[in-house]
Amino acid sequence: MKRSKLVVANWKMHLNVHQASLLVNRLDKKIAIYRDVEVVLAPNFICLQPISMELDKRKFRLASQDGYFVDEGSYTGAISFSQLRELVHYSIIGHSERRRYFNESLDVVRDKVAAAVRNNITPILCVGETREERNQKETKQVLHDQIVSALSNLTSEDVENLVIGYEPVWAIGGKEPAKPDTIAQAVSWLRYQIGELYGEKVAKSVRIIYGGSDEPEYVNGIMAIEGVDGLLVGHASLNYVQFADIIERVHHSRVIGNEE
Ligand code: PEP
Repeated sequence: MKRSKLVVANWKMHLNVHQASLLVNRLDKKIAIYRDVEVVLAPNFICLQPISMELDKRKFRLASQDGYFVDEGSYTGAISFSQLRELVHYSIIGHSERRRYFNESLDVVRDKVAAAVRNNITPILCVGETREERNQKETKQVLHDQIVSALSNLTSEDVENLVIGYEPVWAIGGKEPAKPDTIAQAVSWLRYQIGELYGEKVAKSVRIIYGGSDEPEYVNGIMAIEGVDGLLVGHASLNYVQFADIIERVHHSRVIGNEE
């Protein structure tokens, strides 16, 4: 199956409704419609509804940054995937900041992934090792455990349609992404694991994107890596000039998804 290019803007806990709307407006003027690049914006929960009303849906899709794994009930403060299903195509799940600051365990991530799929929302499952785990040579084991656990309640068909974000925790929020060799090894290991669990066809269909200090100048190098289908962009996505530059570079990058 041919994969398509994907760029996701993770706005994290930045921007109020007014600021988010202004950014969408500027992006809209600056970004052309590229049929080969899907552009997804992930604002905070309160911005989703107003932004969905003004978004040019030929150019952008929406993602939530999280969601709760129970569909409905007495869970004060939570927002479920069943409440998000009319608003978003995607949900970022298992981001390292959620795992770290909100104590999200492997089991919680697994249940959130299943809840998103159950509600017809495509998970963007984030996985990645910490600096310490890399130094201890535990990267492969960590990625293996995160993938096996998160996907354990899904069918092959569910997994085929999934997006995986490889985000080495140590590369997030910095000035430079991980080196191309490092990204290539992790991405090929993730595809190998998925192949072992769900078969070759699924491993070739699942989209894997890279996140961690994706500045425009690094895009060509990252997009040249075999198996990388796009980018998950944090701080650079808050600057419309930089983000538009990233999209354009992704558009001009290699044709993906035909690798044998
Ligand atoms: C992220 O946290 O998803 C991310 C990629 O952040 P940044 O681009 O700021 O490193």
